[in-house]
Amino acid sequence: MKIANKNVTATRLVKDALAKAKHFENYNIFTFINEEGALKRAAEIDAKIARGEKVGRLAGVPYALKDNFLSPEGQTTASAHILEGFVSPVTATSVKKLEQEGAIMIGRTNLDAFAHGSSTENSYFGPTSNAFDKTRVAGGSSGGSAVAVALDIVEFATGSDTGGSIRQPASFNGVYGLKPTYGTVSRYGVVAMASSLDCIGFFTKTPEDMDLLMSIASGQDPKDMTTLPDYYNESETKIAKRIGIIKDFDNDSVDAAIRKALNEKTELLKSKGYEIVNLEMPVLKYALAAYYIIQPAEVASNLSRYDGVRYGFRSNDSKDLYSLYKDTRSEGFMPENKRRIMIGNFVLSSGFYDAYFLKAAKARTLIVKEYEKAFEKCDFILTPVSPNPAFKLGEKVNDPVAMYLEDLMSVSLNLAGIPGLAIPVGKSATGLSLGLQLVGPRRSDKSLINFAKELQ
Ligand code: GLN
Repeated sequence: MKIANKNVTATRLVKDALAKAKHFENYNIFTFINEEGALKRAAEIDAKIARGEKVGRLAGVPYALKDNFLSPEGQTTASAHILEGFVSPVTATSVKKLEQEGAIMIGRTNLDAFAHGSSTENSYFGPTSNAFDKTRVAGGSSGGSAVAVALDIVEFATGSDTGGSIRQPASFNGVYGLKPTYGTVSRYGVVAMASSLDCIGFFTKTPEDMDLLMSIASGQDPKDMTTLPDYYNESETKIAKRIGIIKDFDNDSVDAAIRKALNEKTELLKSKGYEIVNLEMPVLKYALAAYYIIQPAEVASNLSRYDGVRYGFRSNDSKDLYSLYKDTRSEGFMPENKRRIMIGNFVLSSGFYDAYFLKAAKARTLIVKEYEKAFEKCDFILTPVSPNPAFKLGEKVNDPVAMYLEDLMSVSLNLAGIPGLAIPVGKSATGLSLGLQLVGPRRSDKSLINFAKELQ
């Protein structure tokens, strides 16, 4: 990535990024443009460079921030009406780390409200268009971030991935997207969706950039007790020799162009001397059902804090406290948010807890074990990210089950806490971006990125 130095100023880099953001305005990528703040930071970095002072590893690098990361610059809305007007008093740990190295946030990006969705159509601010076909979705929930990188507006963007929200939009827009091992990057200061599944990661144009960002952002954070000690910068790179292919995903429910791309990559790996291991992972068929029980259950709990008293939007005409809660939540949440709150409360209710939540928790354990068994037979797994390339705007937005099926191949990684890296693998005959994901055991993130470098 281009970093400010004696020859190119941070101000130049930031001005170029802002101009591109303006040029692509009708893609609806940003919920906020940080013009004043970004130029001020750029001037500070340029002054440092002029004085010959040491600058960070990301000096002057413009980046886009998914609008569910808290920082005092602009409102943090999570693309939801209920958070409109909320200016955060705190800064997310990941944002602090990036900015300590000199990265400059030029704007906040659009998402499905509260990261609920797979297309960025559930946003209060309207959908974001795909980078290569404006009639198609950007993917989601981190659609704005993926498109900002794909259109080369910024060098990188942040994302959160609870069930595929980094990997799927990355593959829909031809960029790299990493969901790290659970606990690698601090979740502190990111609007919580489902806390046992949420992972913080990035969109980049190269695996080298991903490596740099991970070396900066990873590590233990006293403010997030689920973070792991910094294994990333200490890990020895494991050399992959055996690549697993999940046979259970090789069927008609996967688009022909994606299966073709997977076969071509598999043949290429074979010709390079890799051993291809056919895996049978029948337990994975329960992943989607388990996810759509555990995830709404955690959503119902996390979203209970939005009551019109503490954050953002408040309904004005309520006659008493109870109707204030009710009116604010009725007006402030999107339909998909409400659907998840209702499903979540249902599966947690005393009458149905054993039948749904407990069973899903057991299925989750089986999924963890299924991956452990698979990684005894192979080093990494190569699979599709989603069953299809970018679909048309409006095609699935009124059909929640069709939208949930988008996550068929991505959610099991979140349930197992293992890393997945979406890599671009060219385009379909109709010009749509195709992506595949590399999956590794827990804490293999660095080796996974290195493997992607080899595959370039
Ligand atoms: N599409 C999935 C969902 O709607 C994943 C979203 C995410 O990873 N934030 O839950």
